[in-house]
Amino acid sequence: MNLVERDLKVIWHPYTQMQTAKPPVPIVRGEGACLYDEDGKKYIDGVSSWWVNIHGHSHPYIAKKVAEQLTQLEHVIFAGFTHPTAVELAERLLAILPNNQQKAFYSDNGSTAVEVAIKMCLQYWNNQDKPRTKILAFKNAYHGDTFGAMAVSGRSAFTAAFDSLLFEVEFIDLPNQSNIQNLKSQISNLKSQLACFIFEPLVQGSAGMLMYKAEYLNELVAHCRKEGVLTIADEVFTGFGRTGKRFACDHITEQPDIMCFSKGLTGGTMALGLTTCTQQIFDAFLSDDRLKTLFHGHSFTANPVACSAALASMDLFLETSTAENIKRIANSHSQFALKIKDHPKIKTVRQTGTIIAMEWETGDNTSYFSSLRDKLYHYFLSAGIILRPLGNIIYILPPYCITNADLNYIYSKIEQALEEI
Ligand code: PMP
Repeated sequence: MNLVERDLKVIWHPYTQMQTAKPPVPIVRGEGACLYDEDGKKYIDGVSSWWVNIHGHSHPYIAKKVAEQLTQLEHVIFAGFTHPTAVELAERLLAILPNNQQKAFYSDNGSTAVEVAIKMCLQYWNNQDKPRTKILAFKNAYHGDTFGAMAVSGRSAFTAAFDSLLFEVEFIDLPNQSNIQNLKSQISNLKSQLACFIFEPLVQGSAGMLMYKAEYLNELVAHCRKEGVLTIADEVFTGFGRTGKRFACDHITEQPDIMCFSKGLTGGTMALGLTTCTQQIFDAFLSDDRLKTLFHGHSFTANPVACSAALASMDLFLETSTAENIKRIANSHSQFALKIKDHPKIKTVRQTGTIIAMEWETGDNTSYFSSLRDKLYHYFLSAGIILRPLGNIIYILPPYCITNADLNYIYSKIEQALEEI
């Protein structure tokens, strides 16, 4: 049996209708922005392997640091114990975040980083005997697949089977010039019940790379602060350079109370989640009363190997060449956007930093289940490019080390697809 046959016998893949999906592509090696299958066929990773990879695959520097860590300390329980990589990572990350971020809480992935953030907010109010249970979120938001993270995400095909079990959330529109005053009024009307407002800053990834302006987010965060509503910036996707700055929150002047990280945190090498918060939130859990403890933790909380990958990724992230690469990709995307924006099959093109998204005109409403999706996916795959359109929305967000040649090849295949499909 080859690898795919063995896979089909034992594996249940994520987000995959196992009855109708084509067999998975067997990838055996990664290097730079590319992946290679069993037969040596090259695939340019146009989606950074679910938006996680920032420095390229199997990066030798991260590999070296991880290997060293594995022979030094592979894991230790994080309640009652600590270790150097967890402390150093928290120190170094907090140093480059908005300066109100003072404490770091580790978990395993993006969804758990969000779960922790939500629990911090709900218990923050509970611990002060002023319980608040309502949460504010954007329509079409996506914050993860665990139950709390699903609850604060828009109701969709992803959540349909569980909707009756999800706690109630107030959903508001993305802000713009015409609705910003109205959104602020909605927040003011609900303020005494609102524990927090959670948002994907600047770009709603899974919703289809929907983008909105920093100035209106800034106004909403400021308004929440004025009204005493805590704010959670879910930077799981946008963090670590994706939007052109180190963090999407660097585009605004107001500081969120809590921030969530994963994906690019380890350069996309290993599973790790991190939730940071203000001193004020941390202090609300300090008490002689044991019930005021944040009772949350995972077996692999602050795993030293994952933390060492994150530290190595941080070294690379802070190199000037990384910032230059981010700029290079952003400029290149802008030029491509100008080139194709008037194509009759392009409904809209939008871009924030290293993320570009194109909405394909189907004559129908934009939809995750657009039949165009599969056509496009396999068209690009056979051309040696990994793009995973969200319905009729094609997006590119490559590892920052992608070469101009590979990036231009992706653009040229998109142009070709516009003519051929
Ligand atoms: N938040 C955002 C904004 C995300 O884009 C994602 C994943 N796409 C998550 C949370 C969940 O992260 P994970 O898949 O690691 O659980």
